[in-house]
Amino acid sequence: MTTTGLDEKGWDEETDVIVVGFGGAGAAAAIAAREGGAEVLVLEKMPDPGGLTIVSAGGLRVAFDREAALSYLEATCAGRTPRAHLEVLADGMVAAPEWLRDLAEPLGATVTVTPSPGNYPLPGFEALGYAAITAVPGLERPPHAASALTDGGRLFHVLEQTARRRGVRVLTGAPVRRLLTGGLLTGEDRAITGVIAEIAGRTVRIRARRGVVLACGGFEAGETLKRDHFQATPVLAGSFLGNSGDGIAMAQDVGAALWHMWHYHGPYGLRHSDPDYPYAFYLKALPMWTPGPAAHLSALGLPAGAKKEPARVAWILLDQTGRRFMDEYPPYPGDTGIRPLDAFDPKTQSFPRIPAHLIFDENGRRLYPIGRSIANGRAPVHVWSADNRREVELGILRRADSLAELAAQTGIPEATLTDSLDRWNAACQAGHDPDHGRRPDSLLPIDTPPYYHAEAWPIVINTQGGPVHDPRQRVLTPFGEPIPRLFAAGELGSVFGHLYLSGGNLVESLVGGRIAGREAAALAPLEAA
Ligand SMILES: Cc1cc2nc3c(=O)[nH]c(=O)nc-3n(C[C@H](O)[C@H](O)[C@H](O)COP(=O)(O)OP(=O)(O)OC[C@H]3O[C@@H](n4cnc5c(N)ncnc54)[C@H](O)[C@@H]3O)c2cc1C
Repeated sequence: MTTTGLDEKGWDEETDVIVVGFGGAGAAAAIAAREGGAEVLVLEKMPDPGGLTIVSAGGLRVAFDREAALSYLEATCAGRTPRAHLEVLADGMVAAPEWLRDLAEPLGATVTVTPSPGNYPLPGFEALGYAAITAVPGLERPPHAASALTDGGRLFHVLEQTARRRGVRVLTGAPVRRLLTGGLLTGEDRAITGVIAEIAGRTVRIRARRGVVLACGGFEAGETLKRDHFQATPVLAGSFLGNSGDGIAMAQDVGAALWHMWHYHGPYGLRHSDPDYPYAFYLKALPMWTPGPAAHLSALGLPAGAKKEPARVAWILLDQTGRRFMDEYPPYPGDTGIRPLDAFDPKTQSFPRIPAHLIFDENGRRLYPIGRSIANGRAPVHVWSADNRREVELGILRRADSLAELAAQTGIPEATLTDSLDRWNAACQAGHDPDHGRRPDSLLPIDTPPYYHAEAWPIVINTQGGPVHDPRQRVLTPFGEPIPRLFAAGELGSVFGHLYLSGGNLVESLVGGRIAGREAAALAPLEAA
């Protein structure tokens, strides 16, 4: 299929603004474009809308002070994102609670705003919080194909209802395949004029009189992109198979530059024993916590080193040689949790931590469900048993009655395994992890047989890479020139490119989506082709 330079005649239909993808960013863009007076068509690839947004925890990172938020964003982005982009996001973080209330009010939904410091003790961290939609009258079940009702589901419900009430037209099961341009890839001819999509088994060409917003998520399920851009391999998708990087390919096809492709938000987790089960398992949700000097935190009225109740962590990780290699409980497991698994050993030509061995004992088994699954999709989702027994029966977790058996099952020499566990148990006894500094209140000895183990793999919660955009969400070429009439929003080309800020993707989706929709709607319509 050729796109650039195609004769545009023969459109199947037309509208003002086409939004590609109906998750949080797409919904925000569609609502804003309608507010700008545009006719809007949203094309969603999957049979059910919502993307990652609908299964997310639904927390939007907000700020109580614009300058503090900017300082924090600059510190966490570490020079990988221009200040102008972060200014826009900081403004949006301050405005977000009010926007949410505007959306929620007509539906009687409740918005809760909670102060909560940033994940790392960087400048401005104390001036942040979360906003979430925590109740929606009448919404008792997960919307669409979400496996659980979360604040993310509530958020998407409110966005979707608002979009539909305002006259946004949505087609599901309608993947967009290509962008169409006016002709040669130069100057105004480069303008995006429409899309090619598959609708009800037909290939159709839809004209966009004003613009196209790509809001089609990242590449959690894009195996080639993950292999090309991440060091670790494989990296398993946790929650959703609809985001396979289509927006990246389409944007590249019309000349976009890419950024932040290496950066993803991910922990380590487990695999189902059934190879056909489509999602990786996340581990027990460990509370995020903010490291920092206790005095600093207590001056802010925060518990020393903690945001929430501290977690006891049942497991340790060993590499394939049988040694611990990381703090299994970093401040924000979903941000940097995967990074230590990246290590490649050029001498053995292998990734000695992929998979790693996750190990716990009988006391750990009784503590809580070790894993969990949360997904947006029609395939049945595994509900993890409270005592982990069902997962042992299914072979997701393996049981070993003795250390000798554990050694035999994992392939770790018994002497090394015994040494690693002795060292771990001594650290627990001392209340101090000298090797990796895991927080003392998370230490739990592993000394009571039977033992349990599973392979631990890198998991992607969501990606950050995609087309570069400017602060107006206009997609840019490698020369920094906007591609006329093309916008990107959400995690597709996120501003996060170094450390992640919990709640950052949702607020960015709404902030960027709104800007993209508004900008597209404000463009003068193209002359009829
Ligand atoms: C379990 C979990 C919890 C999370 N919790 C939080 C949280 O509390 N706070 C936070 O900020 N972030 C959270 N995140 C991350 C956040 O949910 C996502 O980064 C964010 O929702 C992305 O929004 P989006 O609109 O860019 O993409 P999505 O919501 O994923 O929507 C993209 C849509 O585009 C569609 N699409 C893809 N390709 C095409 C195509 N070719 N044509 C048409 N449509 C297409 C997809 O099917 C999808 O519906 C969480 C993620 C997960 C998995």
